Amino acid sequence: MKITKNKSLQELNTFGVDLYTDQYIEIDTIEELTEIYNQKVFNKKFLILGGGSNTLFVNNFQGTVIHPNILGREILNEDTKTVTIKVGAGENWEEIVLWTVEQNYLGLQNLTNIPGDCGASPIQNIGAYGVEIKDFLLSVEYFDIQTGIIKNISNKNCNFAYRDSIFKHELKNRALITSITFKLKKWEDDLAIPKEFLKYKGITDILEKKYEKPYTIKMVFDAVNDIRNDKLPRVGEYGSCGSTFANPLISKDKYQELLKEYPDLPSYDTNMKNIVKIPAAYILDKLGWKNRKVGKCGTWVRHPLIVTNYENASGKEIYDLICTIQKDFLDNTGITLNTEINIIF
Ligand SMILES: Cc1cc2nc3c(=O)[nH]c(=O)nc-3n(C[C@H](O)[C@H](O)[C@H](O)COP(=O)(O)OP(=O)(O)OC[C@H]3O[C@@H](n4cnc5c(N)ncnc54)[C@H](O)[C@@H]3O)c2cc1C
Repeated sequence: MKITKNKSLQELNTFGVDLYTDQYIEIDTIEELTEIYNQKVFNKKFLILGGGSNTLFVNNFQGTVIHPNILGREILNEDTKTVTIKVGAGENWEEIVLWTVEQNYLGLQNLTNIPGDCGASPIQNIGAYGVEIKDFLLSVEYFDIQTGIIKNISNKNCNFAYRDSIFKHELKNRALITSITFKLKKWEDDLAIPKEFLKYKGITDILEKKYEKPYTIKMVFDAVNDIRNDKLPRVGEYGSCGSTFANPLISKDKYQELLKEYPDLPSYDTNMKNIVKIPAAYILDKLGWKNRKVGKCGTWVRHPLIVTNYENASGKEIYDLICTIQKDFLDNTGITLNTEINIIF
């Protein structure tokens, strides 16, 4: 365990905002978690922070930031076709994805290049290119902050939805995730990659251009990396949390109404009756929010959903820009544009 007073958060959040926390505690084991539980650290203001790639600090944090640094990857089970893997909350997500790709395990390759720690991956049910972590998770282990007991929650009970889970609701500030367990398929390179991993045209365009069939897991992984490297700001170069906003889920009637103003607006099916998902980026683009600078921050050159810290903007400046974009979206569509990121005041 490492405790630091008055710690700078600048290197600990990918927006790169220059703020401080009163106290920062890095936890390496569950025993250390129990120790700080007994010391009543959780009875005062606290925040759990992984890689800080989905968190915007608006002010200095007057409390304790707890960083779960619990490491380890373990194969719990395997047969000829599948493998069940448990990884510690503090493991870096991108490294775990790369490792599974190197083992030729099918599943996580579309989720490459998403920064952050494994412990945060179930919180917003990370997703990209047609895949979400919920598709592979078996269970999540967490430290119950109210009782000090380790618990396990099954995938089904996590209430996963688009960028959502129980950890944002009933278990918010109650569950400190200590590990995740997921199941992947062992793959052979001569098998055709299943359709669900090739839903995005951008991926198939690259595959067709660069490779012969049958495509391998590594080829899909590389294609996703190519797209993301081209489209997203690189962590460390420009401050961002990836998409600041979640795509709105709206009724089919509302969608029909929007088509009058935006005739080419796409929509995506959801598993909810009468509800479709629309790409907020399409509308924000029409409203002039792509590559627009406002003071020291703005929206990303190639993606209006990505609020970007261009020149050492403060958390407050970034937050104000987010509010401005939300208001513009609401005024023009009547739809609330929710943030995907966690805003900490
Ligand atoms: C360039 C870029 C691209 C991105 N692309 C995507 C994308 O394609 N898809 C996507 O879904 N996301 C994307 N993100 C967002 C982000 O990478 C993910 O949400 C990631 O899972 C956040 O991990 P983190 O450890 O950095 O979380 P943090 O920002 O540290 O925390 C996020 C939330 O989880 C909580 N938390 C963190 N760890 C724990 C824990 N162990 N137990 C309990 N609560 C915890 C925090 O309190 C906070 O509420 C992107 C971000 C960036 C910067």
